[in-house]
Amino acid sequence: MPLKPKSPVGPNFRIGYGWDSHEFKAGVPLKIGGIALDHPKGLGGHSDGDVLLHAITDALLGAVAAPDIGTLFSPSDPRWKGADSALFLEEALRRLQDAGYEIANLDSTLILSQPKIGPHAGRIRQHLSKLLNIAPEQIGIKAKTPEGMGTDNAAIAHAAVLLERSQSSRRSRVSTKKTR
Ligand code: MG
Repeated sequence: MPLKPKSPVGPNFRIGYGWDSHEFKAGVPLKIGGIALDHPKGLGGHSDGDVLLHAITDALLGAVAAPDIGTLFSPSDPRWKGADSALFLEEALRRLQDAGYEIANLDSTLILSQPKIGPHAGRIRQHLSKLLNIAPEQIGIKAKTPEGMGTDNAAIAHAAVLLERSQSSRRSRVSTKKTR
């Protein structure tokens, strides 16, 4: 029996998962999900330390089997010193589009002792909706405190994403089949 030829465009759905952590540091602004939050400490790191955007970026990159955020944007590269993490997200979105996918939904969990994320979650969701060009209803944001973990001086973020093949890519797939 002949082997079924591999699809030239890949599966209709793909999942991605990303994780990140950053240590709290005095004297830097706190940015989470692209939103500046009023807090005495920010998150240290080579870029702006936006732990949530980094986890989402890695989830998107992983979903299309692209290199991870640290490989694409090396922490030793002076170009990314203090960089707005939205730049990393843009690159991940470009790769996702090139691969012919769009985001079906995104879910995320933040783990940090302070500040409380609940009062800001709506604003973060709205901002992510603009950055990712999807509806707020496609974005989950959950926040937990690190009970018993001993990580009170760190912020941790997990993100999971489901991609589906974009409509334009489905059309080109159909036309490819017809011409065979
Ligand atoms: Mg990071």
